[in-house]
Amino acid sequence: MSGLQRIVLVTLRGASTMPSAFPPCPDCQSPYTYQDLEKLLCPECGHEWQLDDVEHAEHEPVVRDSNGNQLNDGDYVTLIKNLKVKGTSSVAKIGTKVKINRLVDGDHNIDCKIEGIGQMMLKSEFVKRA
Ligand SMILES: [Zn+2]
Repeated sequence: MSGLQRIVLVTLRGASTMPSAFPPCPDCQSPYTYQDLEKLLCPECGHEWQLDDVEHAEHEPVVRDSNGNQLNDGDYVTLIKNLKVKGTSSVAKIGTKVKINRLVDGDHNIDCKIEGIGQMMLKSEFVKRA
């Protein structure tokens, strides 16, 4: 998680010129790096690099099904047990095929639509990739 901590530091310290606010130069290890818009710059060797990629990688939720397979937006999964639908008398039956709209962070990490029931949130531990 050190990458995430670095992003938080950069966000908080924004325009600061304190050398310790940024990670050292990956090329020459100089601690006197500074931020210029989206980039970090090293005054000693001239190296510059992006923080963007690191940030996006940290925010992408990794969701795995009951077999440990990684799931992606748009994948089809099937239910591996009957699930009661909160607030209704409906049951989403085992074996029902479901298309994932979107993966999210959290306890119920699959945003999907089930035919005959509608939009709902599922736990990835109760599905497997179809
Ligand atoms: Zn450098």
